[in-house]
Amino acid sequence: MKESKSFSSIYLDRWDDICVDEKARLRTINMLFYLAIGVVSLALSAINGVGGNYGLMLITLLMFAVFVVMALLLLLRRNILKISTVIVFSGAWLLSGFFLYTGGAEGFSPVWLCVFAAFTFLIADRMTARMFNIALLFQVFVMLLTPLYGMLDFQYTQSFRYRFPVLISFVVLCAWISELVRSQTQKRLVEMNGKLRLHAFTDSLTGVGNRYAFQRDVEQENNAGSLSYAVVDVDHFKNINDAYGHTVGDGVLRELAGILKDHIRPLDRVYRWGGEEFVVVLPRIDHEMFESTLQRLRKTIEEAAFHIENGAVVHVTISIGGVSGCMGLDVNECIKQADKCLYRAKQAGRNRVDAVNLSHHVVLTLNGAKIINGDIRPEQ
Ligand code: GH3
Ligand code: MG
Ligand code: MG
Repeated sequence: MKESKSFSSIYLDRWDDICVDEKARLRTINMLFYLAIGVVSLALSAINGVGGNYGLMLITLLMFAVFVVMALLLLLRRNILKISTVIVFSGAWLLSGFFLYTGGAEGFSPVWLCVFAAFTFLIADRMTARMFNIALLFQVFVMLLTPLYGMLDFQYTQSFRYRFPVLISFVVLCAWISELVRSQTQKRLVEMNGKLRLHAFTDSLTGVGNRYAFQRDVEQENNAGSLSYAVVDVDHFKNINDAYGHTVGDGVLRELAGILKDHIRPLDRVYRWGGEEFVVVLPRIDHEMFESTLQRLRKTIEEAAFHIENGAVVHVTISIGGVSGCMGLDVNECIKQADKCLYRAKQAGRNRVDAVNLSHHVVLTLNGAKIINGDIRPEQ
């Protein structure tokens, strides 16, 4: 269908990108994070170089190189996210051990671990981030608060030894809580998105797909193979409303949609086109089969008893206009031709099927486009 995208479908697509594409989000954040750490490492390396701390200068220079290479790899190869996370986290854990052991610049370097702990949930999936944080806390507690402390190269102040593990535990706790809140919110957004999507594509009275759903499905399936279309219209439906009221009319439409749905193949689909009209889409079906399916639907409705209030029943009939052999044709054109068939079925006395195989009427234009040649006639 050539109609422009509805507001609701654009809105829903956006939410899909934001809510569902977790990998794209992680990749972008990782890239930015690696670049930021790379720049910080370069700055630290320069500071250490100027300060004559050449060991740390080399380490931070190496960090700069690793993070920038990782950022570039992520940019060029999208499927290395998992590996890059494992490399970064393993490196970060070894580096944190090194910082704790040497004290880094005047015993301050371990404080940088808090920054890394705070960011873990942003750059990794929840499980990896949790494992890293536990490993980090384990390392900090073992190196600062057990007898192993005596083996460290740097002697921290007594106050730092006790305050730092508390500080980093608090940072990790905050990161866990904020991740929990974020993931719960995201879960609810995804659920809401699903419900909105369902509402946007479902006819509220009958529960079958609406025109937006038709548009979406046909756009997807038209490329996959040939589709046949049937426009179904209830005969003299106004009389039902006039005789029994609108509510009864609604009930009849609901039941009728259910019967149509129950009497087609699983791959066929029913949509409410508007008012008392439905469109049935039947993929990959030859013309004879198509016509006999439509006749079967017509007959089933003719024989069905529609239950209204007080145990009473009403009977209705339908007229159907159908087109098959639509391969390569514009869907609007096919529906227009099916409407013509429906009109003829009504003219011929209603409770009828008028189906045409469009492939017998199609010609190729000079530019290769397929069009329907002249006025189509039903095939008897
Ligand atoms: P025809 O055989 O020519 O199709 O006759 P008809 O009476 O079915 O056609 P017409 O277009 O004159 O009337 C359609 C009626 O369908 C009029 C309208 O009140 C009714 N209708 C449309 N939508 C709904 C709906 O959602 N609920 C109910 N109860 N009636 C509806
Ligand atoms: Mg109508
Ligand atoms: Mg009607």
